[in-house]
Amino acid sequence: MKILVPVKRVVDPNVKVRVKPDHTGVDLANVKMAINPFDDIAVEEATRLREAGHATEVVAVSCGPDACQDVLRTAMGIGADRGILVRTDAELQPLAVAKLLAAIVRREVPRLVILGKQAIDDDCNQTGQMLAAMLAWPQATCASAVRVEGDSVTVTRDVDGGTDTVQLALPAIVTTDLRLNEPRFVSLPNLMKAKKKPLDVIPAETLGVDLAPRWTTLAVNPPPSRKSGVLVQDAAELVRRLRHDAHVI
Ligand code: AMP
Repeated sequence: MKILVPVKRVVDPNVKVRVKPDHTGVDLANVKMAINPFDDIAVEEATRLREAGHATEVVAVSCGPDACQDVLRTAMGIGADRGILVRTDAELQPLAVAKLLAAIVRREVPRLVILGKQAIDDDCNQTGQMLAAMLAWPQATCASAVRVEGDSVTVTRDVDGGTDTVQLALPAIVTTDLRLNEPRFVSLPNLMKAKKKPLDVIPAETLGVDLAPRWTTLAVNPPPSRKSGVLVQDAAELVRRLRHDAHVI
């Protein structure tokens, strides 16, 4: 079985982002970029499934500019066997990404696609769901455990106050939650080996997909700055302040 893992290049989660002065977006100049953390988990899970003999090949795919090759190399450093860059400099919204991924699925014919539940830059949480709808495949979102058995995949999902376990017939779409696994550290030798793995570049325009954006960003604003805390002398003052002043603290 082949597993396809879409990986997005996003601002490194450890970077404190700055909003551009004209509020049109986040300033990406000279900012460290990285693989989306949920996609890191997706590649790890796919690699574990291959190592356990449930999959024969793991293919990572990224849609975007040439720079996305770095996250494909990271995915191959974790364990993906090869990478595909769907190359475009166009702005990509989740609907466009889902259409590009659907085209790649039709070419590659994987039995399982494991995506992140969301990209940490736009927090859309839409691509996996749209891809499942386009392919008419079953989907399980926010997976905290994945078990492949024969022609089906059993997925435990984190839901409010507990878990929900569902079984899907393959081919299927799964999106990852943080609790699914702890991705391995990518060692330098593995990163070097990843440089030798195949990476195909497919120009997005050859896939015959309408990439036109469907929304316009009106403004991006940083969160309001928090007021500084208040030091209290003792528990009695804390209780008094909580009772009378909590709304102003
Ligand atoms: P989103 O719907 O934007 O929150 O993204 C959800 C998931 O879709 C991500 O975790 C990735 O697995 C996948 N994805 C989103 N954008 C891209 C992209 N440009 N290239 C590859 N995969 C993507």
